[in-house]
Amino acid sequence: MAATHYMWEEFRGPVAPGYALHHICGKRNCVRPAHLELVPHAEHLIHHARKRRVRFSPEEWDKRRKARQRANAKKEYLKMKAKGLRRAKRRMPDGTDIDGWVPLTAGKSAVYDHLFQRWLRKNGTEDVP
Ligand SMILES: [Zn+2]
Ligand SMILES: [Zn+2]
Repeated sequence: MAATHYMWEEFRGPVAPGYALHHICGKRNCVRPAHLELVPHAEHLIHHARKRRVRFSPEEWDKRRKARQRANAKKEYLKMKAKGLRRAKRRMPDGTDIDGWVPLTAGKSAVYDHLFQRWLRKNGTEDVP
């Protein structure tokens, strides 16, 4: 298994059949999961095709990437909604925004508490102003 493939599976999950890993940074040997994205294999081939005639323009590629991200976000949203969760975002005491999945029925302060606890776990308590 290629190193990039291994890193992706380790950090992001399985590569679905028919999909390929694309290097957003353009460096083929790069293994940073944040520099990779999962794209349909056929689309990936077209994107890298040598012949300019079939190659996606940067705008077209960008458009497809955004459509893919929207579709994935919607899929995740529906999956979490089925579990009784919704996405929420709040500003923490240090000014950073943190978001996460909270119960659909949670009130405003419950949402804040939930996200604040997550923020505390991540940052420790020392930095709280
Ligand atoms: Zn690629
Ligand atoms: Zn990279």
